[in-house]
Amino acid sequence: MQTIRALVKTEPGVGLQLQDIPLPELRPNHVRIRVLKSSICGTDLHIYEWDDWAARTIQPPMAIGHEYVGVVDAVGSNVHDHFPGELVTGEGHLVCGHCRNCLAGRRHLCPNTRGVGVDRPGAFAEYISIPVANVWHCDPNIPLDILSCFDPFGNATHTALSFNMVGEDVLITGAGPIGLMATAIARHVGARHVVVTDLTGYRRKLAARMGATLALDPGQYSLQEIMAKLGMKEGFDVGLEMSGSPQALVDMLAAMCHGGKIALLGLLPTGAGIDWDKVIFHGLTIKGIYGREMFETWYKMTTMVQSGLDIAPVITHRFPYHEFEQGFALMRSGQCGKVILDWAEAEND
Ligand SMILES: [Zn+2]
Ligand SMILES: [Zn+2]
Repeated sequence: MQTIRALVKTEPGVGLQLQDIPLPELRPNHVRIRVLKSSICGTDLHIYEWDDWAARTIQPPMAIGHEYVGVVDAVGSNVHDHFPGELVTGEGHLVCGHCRNCLAGRRHLCPNTRGVGVDRPGAFAEYISIPVANVWHCDPNIPLDILSCFDPFGNATHTALSFNMVGEDVLITGAGPIGLMATAIARHVGARHVVVTDLTGYRRKLAARMGATLALDPGQYSLQEIMAKLGMKEGFDVGLEMSGSPQALVDMLAAMCHGGKIALLGLLPTGAGIDWDKVIFHGLTIKGIYGREMFETWYKMTTMVQSGLDIAPVITHRFPYHEFEQGFALMRSGQCGKVILDWAEAEND
């Protein structure tokens, strides 16, 4: 049996193991991809740390990881429009194809969604197999590091493009990698002020690099002070909550203009409460975001990069895959943007 190297959650508990697992077999309607680079997601960190969500969700043994770029290695039967050697990445959400939303083309709203590297073997491996419907052909002019981040870049794009930002004042709470990418997108699509809040100085500096008008510590400055400083009179037009902090959401709600629009991406803890008066009397719109629109979000990511959007500063660290422990330690510290694992060099082992 041919085997490949993969990062596996072998049993319940903290940690990951580098292991040999079987090469994914070629199944009908599937494409096998040789992974070149993958990137570490907050989700992967949750799985590493084995928090409540991970314990509820992951059934070991499971090879994890869902953000990657690679080349088509081989295709299963019934696959006619993908060929070995093509540069590809993949949508990490597998949808059922037969529910109301799937049939209506709203596949990101499928209630039967399953996740690569969560419910089925993932991309922290030399090879991965995914359904042909999940394959995205990459523009080879886009750097591999950036292509390896298309999954979270897609979260940022889906969130940021949910509401019109042209000439608007935008508040982004949370400057993790997705908040940072959203900052660059807001700037790219023509927002006026893009205010970013984060508790970490390292990430505030990155936010400034991504085009934030101001990147501030919410413990030091109130949003009302910031608005006064910028000459804003009525509050933010668009809010993107990307921190998962209940306080950040409370502060955001108090700083929105009447009729403002909020997209929620950060996962809030169970029971996090808000002042509903702010939503009702101020006529706010709140939209929850999960995943990426298939495949409109992927199209927009590609075309925004082709038209000058640069998310490269978000990628701060790179490691060969066997130094994954360093990558995860860095993720835990928060002193990083996106951390990339290189799998291509596995060939030289
Ligand atoms: Zn992810
Ligand atoms: Zn469905």
